[in-house]
Amino acid sequence: MKDETTTKESGVKESVSNFVHDFIDEDMASGRYAGMPIYTRFPPEPNGYLHIGHAKAICLNFTTAEKYGGKCNLRFDDTNPVKEDVEYVEAIEEDVRWLGFEWDELRFASGYFDEMYACAVRLIRAGKAYVDDQSAEEIRRARGTLTEPGTNSPWRERGVEENLLLFEEMKQGVYADGEKVLRARIDMASPNMNMRDPVLYRISSGEHHRTGGDWRVYPMYDFAHPLEDAIEGVTHSLCTMEFEDHRPLYDWVLASLEWPRAPRQIEFARLNLTRTVMSKRYLKEMVDEGFVDGWDDPRMPTLAGLRRRGYTPSAIRDFCERIGVAKANSVVDIEYLEFCVREDLKAKVESRNVVFDPIKVVIMNWPEGVTEDVEMENSREMPEFGTRSASFGREMWIDGADFMEDPPKKYYRLYQGNEVRFKGAYFVTCQDVVKDADGHVKELHCTYDPATKSGADFTGRKVKGTIHWVEASTAVEVTVREYGYLMRPDETGENVRDTDSIREYRCIAEPALSGVRPGERYQFFRHGYYIADEKLTDPAPGGEKVFNSIVGLKSSWKG
Ligand code: ATP
Ligand code: MG
Repeated sequence: MKDETTTKESGVKESVSNFVHDFIDEDMASGRYAGMPIYTRFPPEPNGYLHIGHAKAICLNFTTAEKYGGKCNLRFDDTNPVKEDVEYVEAIEEDVRWLGFEWDELRFASGYFDEMYACAVRLIRAGKAYVDDQSAEEIRRARGTLTEPGTNSPWRERGVEENLLLFEEMKQGVYADGEKVLRARIDMASPNMNMRDPVLYRISSGEHHRTGGDWRVYPMYDFAHPLEDAIEGVTHSLCTMEFEDHRPLYDWVLASLEWPRAPRQIEFARLNLTRTVMSKRYLKEMVDEGFVDGWDDPRMPTLAGLRRRGYTPSAIRDFCERIGVAKANSVVDIEYLEFCVREDLKAKVESRNVVFDPIKVVIMNWPEGVTEDVEMENSREMPEFGTRSASFGREMWIDGADFMEDPPKKYYRLYQGNEVRFKGAYFVTCQDVVKDADGHVKELHCTYDPATKSGADFTGRKVKGTIHWVEASTAVEVTVREYGYLMRPDETGENVRDTDSIREYRCIAEPALSGVRPGERYQFFRHGYYIADEKLTDPAPGGEKVFNSIVGLKSSWKG
């Protein structure tokens, strides 16, 4: 898993033309599917949660159907009894809906087991399939290599009647797992390894999450998938590049069954992102080992994780559109996804003042016990979001990063003798730095200038720094979790788990945040975008609030 980075330029180019749509246009022009709606499907295996790579496939399938006034199904490709579970089925449905798509039909591949079995019987009758008694290991050894042809199975010339009987017995549960398989009779010398008599059915005694113990034989992906598509009237079966070499088999299955107007498989590149992983199997390991706090851990690239993290469905859809669809596999910089999230939130959320690593400021010329309401803008980017009032008083909290004892050149925030604007309020000058017995900064003694109130017609002098603040007597405390990335490149460039990807802070916030409800998003002024965690935030006013960092304010991404 080496990190390579794609440029945004290529992403933009790709989104202009979508070769999948070019193929469909071609088929429309030739009348290949005349009278049929353009039909696509999203076919996840319910063996894990969906990740952002799946979002790319979801967007492509649903928006393609939309573009052509066609249809799109959600189909669970549940032909493997042991790894699948209803928990995943439910989570996948929720995730697809959350992205904003509604399927035409909800289907399960397991709903076609009878029909698939009947198709296998037809292949046997046509002399195109046979029961093989070889073990999986023997079959593998006889397959040959890329440079050498395979060898025919000793059971390849079995008669139709015997094959029919044995296949029926496989179904009845007469044989143990792995004792026999049904294979296509194609060509053991084919240059395409997938065409060397691939296995169509195997025996499995596992319990299936929908059909229980009804079936003892299960179809293999390469046999099941074209049938699922064809049965549903799918016209364009969009899948990822690793299935390109399987397309001849896809076509062979449907041609051998003389399926009229068989669907067309079109492959596109998988989405890969830097600083994370896009494999259900690997993500499941992280969940099972407790490396993350479940499938919806905010660091996970799963849709459940991104949702909890505060990413919006519109940002994810925008991202999928911008990266476009291409044939060449590439790795997209995760900052590009963050850029899309930031763009989306900028136009949607209000800002609030939250102070990290707080330092106390005492305004010495402000009367004790008195506060004054000042108007604070709700969004720098969106003036139409209006203002709210905030109290200004004698004791205030400012960000630890906004004060320095020994400032470098061009540091315009607070230091002894310097004057800054307290955002939305007054100019404040730091007069004295008060330390505790250990020499740590305890508080800053400051003065304010009443003539400089924000909005007042003051032209006397200018300050270069504006900092945010929270008035102490009305402040509330919140917990903030800052997240890094799930993975990091090690010295050799290999992607390894990042064990330092979560940091928790106690912060001081303006009182408005004490009423926040789970799932609400804010910009923390000058810090970034945050969401009140769905699980950890107490919805009661004044209850414990836990925020997840969604994305920072700035990107090194050249958007
Ligand atoms: P994983 O390797 O993560 O388990 P998968 O391909 O096995 O993924 P499926 O449930 O079979 O997962 O995938 C459903 C659909 O999503 C397939 O059509 C698959 O091609 C597509 N898909 C999966 N991962 C990606 C990805 N990274 N980018 C684009 N499409 C993807
Ligand atoms: Mg799969």
